[in-house]
Amino acid sequence: MNHGQKSTVISALDVKAKALELGADLVGIASAKALNAFPPDPRYPQTPDRISPRVKSVVVIVQHIPAAGFRCKQMVPVQYLDMIVLRRMDKIAARIAYWLEEQGHPAFVTAAQETDWNMKKASYGYLSTRHLGIEAGLGNFGLEVNILTPEYGPRVYLTGILTEVELEADGPMAEQVCIGEGCSRCLYSCPGDAVGHFDIDKPACAEFAQEFGYMTVTAMMRKFAKAERAEKLEMLQSRDLYGFWQGILRVVGSFGDCPRCLAVCPVGVDYHAFLADDQKHIPEQTPEKVALGKRFKQARQRGDDIPGLNEWNIRWVGPDGYTGKAARQVRQDFRAEQKRLIAEADGAE
Ligand code: SF4
Ligand code: SF4
Repeated sequence: MNHGQKSTVISALDVKAKALELGADLVGIASAKALNAFPPDPRYPQTPDRISPRVKSVVVIVQHIPAAGFRCKQMVPVQYLDMIVLRRMDKIAARIAYWLEEQGHPAFVTAAQETDWNMKKASYGYLSTRHLGIEAGLGNFGLEVNILTPEYGPRVYLTGILTEVELEADGPMAEQVCIGEGCSRCLYSCPGDAVGHFDIDKPACAEFAQEFGYMTVTAMMRKFAKAERAEKLEMLQSRDLYGFWQGILRVVGSFGDCPRCLAVCPVGVDYHAFLADDQKHIPEQTPEKVALGKRFKQARQRGDDIPGLNEWNIRWVGPDGYTGKAARQVRQDFRAEQKRLIAEADGAE
């Protein structure tokens, strides 16, 4: 430990190497100054300085959700994987924070999934982990405003380690990672018609993605309070109460319940390696959804005023638009790494 000793000089590269060594799938550095200057919504500043004005940098790590879950007929495996990934991610983040402290730089892990009820009456955290990831150069928004990484598309979770040491920040990517309106596969797959034009209808999404989330639970409690005794007894044996119980026990059903927009997104090496065959056909696709995707495309081509792409929000979508360069680079790197591993294995025989 380094308590009371002089701080060790560390670089962004040192921190990234340590994060990868400790198990992060991806890592980037966001500048607290930039996060304070560009809150996702200036009316509700999800900024580091609201937590601590001492914070100078945020180390952002990504853990991917194993693709196997998205190859299943049921959603339960992905829901269970969500919990495993989140727990693993928190542990890795905590280890990074302890390591930074050992180097003489105070650091702590942000509450990634917690909601600050004073922000808005929905799931808005103290910081937005998607925006942290974008500011750390790890990806940017898809049409459904999930963060899309070139490596794993939207099949990821992120968290941030806030630290007082100034590290060289990566900054947002200029290229749009999302293929855009011409793809619209997330929109086609959405059972709640919640996907907008680089926007999302959160309550509509929550009906499917948080089947046993907070709002469902409070609605159930209200109904219970008003019910007659016989109905109350019946409710105690209901599927809803059991769903609530499972949500508390192992997250299942309380969030991330609907993986459809994650499963069908063709961005990511994992999609091409494991999901393309299973997810090619989208059973939820309707002519109406296809028409909506086309209208989005035309609106963008015409240069209509689209809130999700306005002057403020374009920062998180990628001001240069989609070129496919980032995806191609990541796939090339993946193939090169595979060849290297094969050559290594051949050499070992
Ligand atoms: S999680 Fe499900 S309901 Fe929510 S936007 Fe994605 S596909 Fe739609
Ligand atoms: S499915 Fe297509 S439109 Fe939707 S986020 Fe992924 S790349 Fe973008």
